[in-house]
Amino acid sequence: MARSIADVTPAEPQPAAKHRLAAAVAAAGDEILDLSHRIHADPEVAFEEEHAAGWIAEVLARHGFTVERPAGRLATAIRAIRAGGRGGSGPRIGILAEYDALPGLGHGCGHNTMAASGVGAAIALAAIADELPGEIVFLGTPAEERGSGKAIMIADGLFEGIDAALLFHPCDRSHVQSFPLASEDVEVVFHGLQAHAASDPWMGRNALDAMILLFSSVGLWRQQLRTDARVHGIIQEGGTAANIIPERTRAWFMLRSPDQAYYEHLKTRFRELAEAAALATATTVEITFSGGATTMKPNGTLERRWVANAAAYGIVDQGPDPNSGSTDMGNVSWVCPTIHPELAIAPEGTPGHSILFRDAAATPQADETTLLAATLVAQVALELFSDPALVEAAWRDFRGEA
Ligand SMILES: [Zn+2]
Repeated sequence: MARSIADVTPAEPQPAAKHRLAAAVAAAGDEILDLSHRIHADPEVAFEEEHAAGWIAEVLARHGFTVERPAGRLATAIRAIRAGGRGGSGPRIGILAEYDALPGLGHGCGHNTMAASGVGAAIALAAIADELPGEIVFLGTPAEERGSGKAIMIADGLFEGIDAALLFHPCDRSHVQSFPLASEDVEVVFHGLQAHAASDPWMGRNALDAMILLFSSVGLWRQQLRTDARVHGIIQEGGTAANIIPERTRAWFMLRSPDQAYYEHLKTRFRELAEAAALATATTVEITFSGGATTMKPNGTLERRWVANAAAYGIVDQGPDPNSGSTDMGNVSWVCPTIHPELAIAPEGTPGHSILFRDAAATPQADETTLLAATLVAQVALELFSDPALVEAAWRDFRGEA
C-alpha cells in the first residue's frame, strides 16, 4: 500500500461511513501496532497467553467495551461487548482475534497481527457505535495452534446468538477462500520396562522400539493414504540414557484431512498402528486425541463482501489458497456464517510457521496489513450491521439454501 488507509475511497455501500472507520483505525494506529509489537516480542503458547489477553482487555476497556476475562473456562479467553446506540434489535457481529505463538519459534504464524487487527476493527466500530444497532462482540480466542480453543469456547456457549464471525489471518498472499483440513493433536505414550542395556537387556521392554515401529508404520501407511491426508509427528521423550532400556516414550502427532469422514477413518487406522507397535514390543500404549479442528464451511455472501471492500484498497484476490493447514475457525464456521480471509504480510514464497514468517510479522509491511485488515473487518461488519438482508443472505448460505 503506497497510500494510507485514510486516503482511499472505500467500496459501496456507505463509503462515507466506511471512510470514518478507516480514519478511526488510522487515528488509533499507534495503539493497534503497539499491541501487535508487544505480543510479537513476548510470545506465549496455547492456553498461556496471559500477557496478550491482559493487554487486549486493557485496550478494549479503554474504548468503552465491557470486558469479560476469562470468558468461559479458558483463562486467556476474552469476550468484550459494546452495544450499539440505536437500540432495538440488531445483529451481533463477532470480531475475532487469536494471539497464541508456536513453541520454540514465537509468532511464526503472525497471530500478533490477528490480535491487533481484531482489536483495531473493534475500536473502529466502537467509534461509530452510537449509530449502530445490535452489538459488537469481540471474542479473544486462545489456543489456535494446539488445542482448538474455539471449539471449547463454542461448547462454553460463547458463540450463541452470534450472526457472523470475522477473522483475518496473515499470509504471503491474499485470498478470502481457503480449505482448512480437519485436524487433531494426538499424544502417544508407550510404557515399557527399564533394564541395563548391556548386562540384562532381555529383562526390559523397549518403549523406544515401539515408537520407532509406530513411525515406520506411519511411513509405510502413507502409500495407502489419500494424497490430501497428512500425518506428522515428533518424538518428545525418547528415553533418558543409551545404557537404559527406555521405559517411557512420548510423541505428538497430528492427523489431517480435507474430508471429515475420511478423517475419522485416519483416526481408527492410526490407533491400530499404535496398538500394533505396542503388541510387537510387549509394551503398552496410551493414545489421547485432543478433540480437534474441523473442515470449514465457506460463506460466499461474506466472502464477496470482503473481496469488494478489499478491492477498493488495491487488493486483488489471488484465488483459493491451495495449501491449507488447519484452524479452529473451521469449528466456528459450522455454528454461524464465518470468513477467515488472508492478506499478505510477507513476500510471496515465505513459508508459514518459520523464522522468516515470524520476522515478517513485525515489519512495516505487516503493520500496514494489520491496519488494513482492521479496516476491512470493520467495513464488512458495518455492512452487516446496516443491512438485515445481508445478514439473512449469509444465513441462507450457511443453511445451504440457494
Ligand atoms: Zn495461524
